[in-house]
Amino acid sequence: MRIGFDLGGTKMLAGVLDGENNLLGRSKAKTGGGGNDEVISQILEVTRAAIAAAGNPEITAMGIAVPGPIDIGLGMILEPPNLNLRNAPLAKILKQELGFPVVLENDVNAGLWGEYVAGSARGYQHVIGIFPGTGIGGGIILEGRLFRGKMGSAGEIGHITVQSDGRLCGCGNFGCLETVASKTAIARDLAVLAMNGRSPVLAAAGASDIRMVKSGLIAKALKAKDPGVAEVVQRAAMFLGIGMAAMVNTFDPELIVVGGGLVEKLGDSFLKAAETSMRARAMPRLVEGVAVKAASLSDNAAVIGAADLAGRSLAS
Ligand SMILES: [Zn+2]
Repeated sequence: MRIGFDLGGTKMLAGVLDGENNLLGRSKAKTGGGGNDEVISQILEVTRAAIAAAGNPEITAMGIAVPGPIDIGLGMILEPPNLNLRNAPLAKILKQELGFPVVLENDVNAGLWGEYVAGSARGYQHVIGIFPGTGIGGGIILEGRLFRGKMGSAGEIGHITVQSDGRLCGCGNFGCLETVASKTAIARDLAVLAMNGRSPVLAAAGASDIRMVKSGLIAKALKAKDPGVAEVVQRAAMFLGIGMAAMVNTFDPELIVVGGGLVEKLGDSFLKAAETSMRARAMPRLVEGVAVKAASLSDNAAVIGAADLAGRSLAS
């Protein structure tokens, strides 16, 4: 049995998996504050609870998905935004406490790998994963292998320049894809609509404060056909398609899998709009055979992917 762990800024989730990647036991908690010691003791608590929920099987490996940047070789988590862990040798500490080997992986890579072994991307060999959320994460599987690049950071699709004179991005560049197509970008534009009185649903939910604009509320405002809301969402989808087209032209994939809470809540219409934009902009010969699918494992993707990757890295 292997255990997968998804360590996020707001929540953490652990799952015990059998050899066929079936989840036998799960446990989760809200990620608390404090420093390295507090976060690590919480990780241990949630891990042990998942093992107990699965009936205390013998664990051979643990994979832990963390927001980058990480040093996979050293098993170190460096300085992730939104997480109170700083330069922690996480793999080593957890192995000492738990007694089985622990392997770190970037959370986006782990999520895409989960979809590859157990979700929407099963059966494909060349897959691009795009996950619009606070930012836009991306991952690349080529010839059945995760492509990590020289620093383990390959797939920063969110930072492709799509507007040369666009908004300032968190990375320091202007006009990155995530400044126009992430949930944050959509929320920013919708907050303006709420303020201008163009969206009664958003205004009633206090959405002139950008923090109140969650994926579920965006879906609700779309359904209510509030003026301007569909336009904002369509524009984000159009830009997402530009990013997808760049991936198609660069990597010649068979499949683009798109996931995350925004896609789950907005569903097919968002994905179809992005796909239409992708097909209009990518090279016709390359894009013709490319499938576009929504991710299917939701929160379990990174748990399953991290566990599977840990099992493979220890077996090789
Ligand atoms: Zn950027």
